[in-house]
Amino acid sequence: MIGRREEQMVLDPKLLEILACPACDDRPPLRLEGETLVCDECHRVYPIHDGIPILLPDEALQPEQTDVNHQ
Ligand SMILES: [Zn+2]
Repeated sequence: MIGRREEQMVLDPKLLEILACPACDDRPPLRLEGETLVCDECHRVYPIHDGIPILLPDEALQPEQTDVNHQ
């Protein structure tokens, strides 16, 4: 029986280090917040699915634009 188990990480910290916001020109680093990645520059919120960050501007949630209207 395994005595101790590390708490499961939402995202590999090493992966987090190399991630950058695809929507910003200067590629700022992303901040892990809960189970999402937040860009401090454009304030987009990127979801993480099964440990894989979905760094697509189209998939990101924007605080100013929470309702997505597809025309
Ligand atoms: Zn950004």
